[in-house]
Order: sequence, then structure tokens, then C-alpha cells
Amino acid sequence: MSSLLLVSAQALGVVALADFISGLVHWLEDAYGTETTPVVGTLMIRPNIIHHHYPRYFTKLNWWQSSWDLLLLGALIIGVAAWTGVLTWHVWLFVAICVNANQIHKWSHQTRAENGRLVSFLQDIHLLLTPRQHALHHTDPKNTYYCPVTNLLNPVLEFIGFWPKLEAVIEALTGATHRKDASNRGEGPAPAWVAELRRPSAAHAHDLGSARRPAAHAVIEMESELEGLPLGGS
Ligand SMILES: [Zn+2]
Ligand SMILES: [Zn+2]
Repeated sequence: MSSLLLVSAQALGVVALADFISGLVHWLEDAYGTETTPVVGTLMIRPNIIHHHYPRYFTKLNWWQSSWDLLLLGALIIGVAAWTGVLTWHVWLFVAICVNANQIHKWSHQTRAENGRLVSFLQDIHLLLTPRQHALHHTDPKNTYYCPVTNLLNPVLEFIGFWPKLEAVIEALTGATHRKDASNRGEGPAPAWVAELRRPSAAHAHDLGSARRPAAHAVIEMESELEGLPLGGS
């Protein structure tokens, strides 16, 4: 029994670590990446900026289109772990979660009908990121709740002020500050290369991030969007 508890605790720790690393990458993209950053600018930052303007855009992409870059990184980690003799089940679990981080994030932008019973259940027990919690990230200026896998870690990092403190350290060391553009702050029009993309459906006329709003409004709006309900007003 105690070994089962130990394995469960380790598995939970691996999930939390994968969630944290995925959140850290997301934060780097949001805070410091630009579309002109070499290599990753096109591969990772552009999709990220599009996602802030049109949250549902990536739900029309299949698993491969959303996850191929993570799969390559995961294969690299597995290869290095095997080469150095540390390829345990923990590494496999860590890679499995990280490779699917964008898919799990995608589920938080989909309806329960789109997700099916199993994913909806895992969201209901907060093991997977819920639309309600993720809406807090999509609230301008989109500078918190970065972790995309579970509901467990974000409130803890929020409570200790992790991201602002980390950004303060980066600024003190390098002078670099959090990127301020329309995708993060909801100010001004989207860049032309984003605006020319077709929105995935009429339901997204109320995309989150199109204006400054309190978090509670973003939550309600996101859920309304997911349920396809008329919003009234804006
Ligand atoms: Zn983001
Ligand atoms: Zn999102």
C-alpha cells in the first residue's frame, strides 16, 4: 500500500513538473518572444500570438499540427535519457504530458461535446485544465495562469506571485520587460498577418482578449462562447 502511495505521489509530482515546464515555456513565449525572434518566431511565437487574438483558431488544427514540435522535443529528451541511463517511467510520463500539453490546452477551448466524456470528466475533477481557470489567462493583460495542463499548479504560483517576481529578476539582470502588444493587452488592432486569418466560426465573434475586462467577465464570456449562447451587449 505504501508503495502504491509512493508511486501515486511521484506520478503527481511528475504531472506538476510537466505542467510547470510547459507553463514556463508558455510564459517565455508570451513575455519575451516576438514574431521576428529567430527560428522560434515563426514556429512558436506566431501561433501563440494568433491564439491570443483568436482563442479558438487552433481548435481547427489536428493533433499533429499542434504537437509536432513538442513531439520532436520529447523524442530528444527520451533519447538523451536513454543514452545517459536514466530513462525511467517518470521520464516517459513527463514526456507524454509535455508532448500533449498543447492538446490539453486545446481541450480547455473546446465544448464538452467536442471533448467527449473522458476529457470532460478529467476536467471536472480538475486534473486537466478547465475552461473556467484558463479564461483567467485570457484576461488582459494575459500575464498569469500560464500552466496549460492541470488546475493544480496555477493557483499556487499565483498565490506566491511567481511570474511577476521572475520577471522582476529578469528585468534586473537583463533590462528585458514583458512584451506589450495587442495580443497581450487587447489594445489596438491585430497585426495584418493575424487579421487576414479567417476566424474559425461565428461563435468567436466574442473572442477573449479583444478588450480589457475583469477576469470574472472573461470566465462568463468563455463559457458562453463554449456553450454557443448569445452574449448580449458587446
Ligand atoms: Zn498565452
Ligand atoms: Zn488558451
